[in-house]
Amino acid sequence: MAPGVRLVIVGGVAAGASAAARARRLSEAAQITVIERGPDVSFANCGLPYHIGGEIADRARLAVQTPESLARLLNIEVLARTEVVSVDRARKVVVVRGPAAPGAETPGGDAGNERELPYDKLVIATGAAPLRPPLPGIGDPRVLTLRNLQDMDRIKSATGKAARVLVIGAGFIGLEMAEQLRRIGKTVTLAEAADQVLPPLDAEIAAPVADELSAAGVELVLGDAIAGFEAEGAALSARLKSGRLIETDLVVLAIGVKPESGLAAAAGLEHGARGAIKVNGHMQTSDADIYAAGDVVESVDRTTGTPMNLPLGGPANRQGRALADHIFLGANARPYPGHLGTAIVRVFDLAAGLTGWTEKRLAQAGRDYRATVVTDYQHASYFPGATPLTLKVLWSPEDGRLLGAQAVGADGVDKRLDVIATALAGGLTIDDLADLELAYAPPFGGARDVVNTAGFAARNERDGLARPVTTLPAGRAVLDVRPAAVADLSPIPDALNIPMPELRARLGELDSAKPWVTVCALGKTSYFAARVLAQAGFDVVSLAGGVRVRPETTRVKAASPAAVANQLGAGKTAATPAPAARVTEAAELDCTGLACPGPLLQVKTRCDALAPGQELAVTASDPGFARDVEAFARSTGFELLGVERAKGLVKARLRRPVDAAAINASLIAAPAAGARRKGATLVVFSGEMDKVMASLVIANGAAALGGPVTLFFTFWGINALRREQAVTVTGKTLLDRMFGRMLPRGLGALPLSKMNFGGAGRRLMRYQMASKRLPNLPGLLGTARLAGVRLVVCTMSMEAMGIRAEELIEGVEFGGVADYLASAETTGTNLFV
Ligand code: FAD
Repeated sequence: MAPGVRLVIVGGVAAGASAAARARRLSEAAQITVIERGPDVSFANCGLPYHIGGEIADRARLAVQTPESLARLLNIEVLARTEVVSVDRARKVVVVRGPAAPGAETPGGDAGNERELPYDKLVIATGAAPLRPPLPGIGDPRVLTLRNLQDMDRIKSATGKAARVLVIGAGFIGLEMAEQLRRIGKTVTLAEAADQVLPPLDAEIAAPVADELSAAGVELVLGDAIAGFEAEGAALSARLKSGRLIETDLVVLAIGVKPESGLAAAAGLEHGARGAIKVNGHMQTSDADIYAAGDVVESVDRTTGTPMNLPLGGPANRQGRALADHIFLGANARPYPGHLGTAIVRVFDLAAGLTGWTEKRLAQAGRDYRATVVTDYQHASYFPGATPLTLKVLWSPEDGRLLGAQAVGADGVDKRLDVIATALAGGLTIDDLADLELAYAPPFGGARDVVNTAGFAARNERDGLARPVTTLPAGRAVLDVRPAAVADLSPIPDALNIPMPELRARLGELDSAKPWVTVCALGKTSYFAARVLAQAGFDVVSLAGGVRVRPETTRVKAASPAAVANQLGAGKTAATPAPAARVTEAAELDCTGLACPGPLLQVKTRCDALAPGQELAVTASDPGFARDVEAFARSTGFELLGVERAKGLVKARLRRPVDAAAINASLIAAPAAGARRKGATLVVFSGEMDKVMASLVIANGAAALGGPVTLFFTFWGINALRREQAVTVTGKTLLDRMFGRMLPRGLGALPLSKMNFGGAGRRLMRYQMASKRLPNLPGLLGTARLAGVRLVVCTMSMEAMGIRAEELIEGVEFGGVADYLASAETTGTNLFV
């Protein structure tokens, strides 16, 4: 392009200002004119909701540049309050009207001050206008939309008088508005025509957002479109298609935007389906001297090449730059590659977003796809602040290529979406996801990030190791492998509950002639269970995402603020090693970092000890705890005084009723009369690693079921409880000392019962278990102790083997056969291992 080119840009915000800035950097000689209808240029539309809610306190921060400062900065001409009313392509001139009279926002209809401006290259960056369908009453001055600073000022000033605000449209802007309006204490109703919030997202990813809104006090009206507005005196009502009338003081209409392409259409430029201007990769319209960028254009989907209009800030900025490159660099310019459709929104303490294709879009387009849903902590589960994150990945069954992803969680959603957006841009596959080496230290991620986990899960599915289903299929028997305590609280109709730790031992209870579906809280343990069953010859599938992602599976429906977090969760079984709960005060219980059902077990124990009328304040990071504690209170009779969520933590307050009769004691301590006796007593005779492990797995399962559990360690089993470091004990006989040296010290030294090969087999087994994320022995022991399992050591055996109390780990009890018999008498399960 020859220097001195006359470049005229219509629209001075994201795409327009970006094109002007890049143009100036590429050519000092170009004569650049930016024409903007409004009084402001280059302002931050994306920040508008946050000034209304006061989060961005200083309005001036949104006006990134004034017309004058932009003109000075780039050495360009900026005509604000000036409108381009037509384009004469043959003569290469635009007709402009304005500037607007002082006090007017935009130039009026008066053609008196029109003039022509010639161009060599023209850029149309006129954006998209909020939809205002011609509904009855839409002209009411209290029905407002939000696009620019003036709209923002209007809404902000109107909120001063309005106690109730109706936001119509639960898309990204609608949700931001609902959040900010609640922030300033308004009574907010959010109405959406679709049957879910965030209609672009798949239902199970959007559901937690709906719960978050409800929990924050936003009234949701879903599946009901706006039909019109009715004003009677000072009263304003919105009528929905169902006939429902919502009284309000102010309406914010956020039902979408429409490309402002009238200018281009009148000039005869080609346009696409939604009226957006058609452009090529260099953002040229059907007239090679006219470019267009931003919300007003129809670009292409980066992964399929199909037409796509995407009204988002990032693409607008990059398209503005791309077209300037083409004008000034010609063949050296890189074309705009198309959109992925990456977007994110924060809604109170949650974030949700997407990149690429959703399942909904794929299904509508009739494309072949697979969907994989995983939930895991956003960073190491043991590090403070761990909160769960659900990631859904869509991929092609043909070659494993990624098609899209969605994520929801309290923290780390942006990072996962950005990683997968990058993977999509690079044409990566599910195998690549599994192999991505991502930054890891406990405060930031996990040694296997949730992105890796999504890759592993998808790979398992492709390789036939996992057969996930998204709803409970008819005709399959349902096996619920959640801990019994959790299954009791939110039962799955007609399901057989066998907690995962007990499954291998209880396979005989399952009818192998039937097809099965396994279910757990999050879809991970049910996959493990399905693998056990599949290898035993069963026809089995597992419910992806588990009941936390698909709460309709259980009898307990998300119905209260406490249900919010239920949509998310961290799938650890009872046997998963967990950090100890920290009891800070008599009536406070800190269960942060404890995975399900750890918090519930802790609460049961503490509630049992509460005095009548005494309160217990519990803090947990397992979001499923919100629903668990609700169900716990309902079934036990303890009063739930409140459940709150903040920054990914669930805080619940319980009170023991003064009236003892109000308590369903059977669910707290002892089994109900006539009920199957719970609890277990195990004699741990063997000192072999695998047998001790089996004992601990059963003990944990039985503890989760709620009954008393005693492990009675005798003879070789006592080795499991020995301290690993040698302890100096005086007064032992020579034979006792010899025994002490020869016997294994502690869990880490126990041999395998088979294929021990001098310890090599034991190491191999430990590696196997770690690589499959199965619980290890110390973890199982820790969980058992947390769950209140008694560890009793047979004093007679200690004597026989010359082992002294000080050689054993802390917290064990000492007993004899009477102790064993007493426990065996009260428990349902009695085993000798
Ligand atoms: P615009 O920014 O709309 O600019 C077009 C300009 O052209 C307007 O100022 C208009 O006055 C002017 N114009 C139109 N016709 C004429 C004419 N005939 N003559 C002269 N001037 C004219 N995107 C995100 O990616 N993330 C977000 O979080 C996000 N939040 C948003 C929040 C809100 C409230 C809004 C309104 C938008 C948000 N967006 C967000 C979308 C993003 O702001 C837009 O995609 C982006 O601004 C589009 O840039 P644009 O230049 O195409 O259009």
